[in-house]
Amino acid sequence: MSDPDRLDIEMSGGCQCGAVRFHASALMANPHICHCRMCQKATGQLMVAAVGVREEHLVWTRGAPTIFMSSDYAERGFCPHCGTTLSFHFKGARHWAMAMGAFDEPWRIPIHFQIGTEGRHPALADLNGIRDAGTTEAADPAGAERIRLSSHQHPDHDTEFWP
Ligand SMILES: [Zn+2]
Ligand SMILES: [Zn+2]
Repeated sequence: MSDPDRLDIEMSGGCQCGAVRFHASALMANPHICHCRMCQKATGQLMVAAVGVREEHLVWTRGAPTIFMSSDYAERGFCPHCGTTLSFHFKGARHWAMAMGAFDEPWRIPIHFQIGTEGRHPALADLNGIRDAGTTEAADPAGAERIRLSSHQHPDHDTEFWP
């Protein structure tokens, strides 16, 4: 019997610099986007995509996030070296909401719903209404290559040593 509250997706992830890495052996069936003002401010972005991971399915495999308490109840985790948003945790809860973009293959995780819509930027109500300027590679091939060759970003897989 499969658990309706669980997605059988196993995946590692981590921050941009690679100082903090984690592994999730299963995900909760709640992947979502939050537009709320606290998620916006915590990331400097207009929305956060997140998915729950139960504590028994989550291992911090390298380093650990630094915590900012955005309220008396909520712990927001980020890499102390590069600042990547990594996690959201209600004090005492037995699961963490993990930032989907920090996973190594975020496109494998579905998105089931959006919340916090009181904070949603009007343009994000219809992404198809925003002009599609194409891929990074197509827009600036030389620039994309320069960045690729000099990137300090951790690769999208686990590494034994880094950097
Ligand atoms: Zn980092
Ligand atoms: Zn939020």
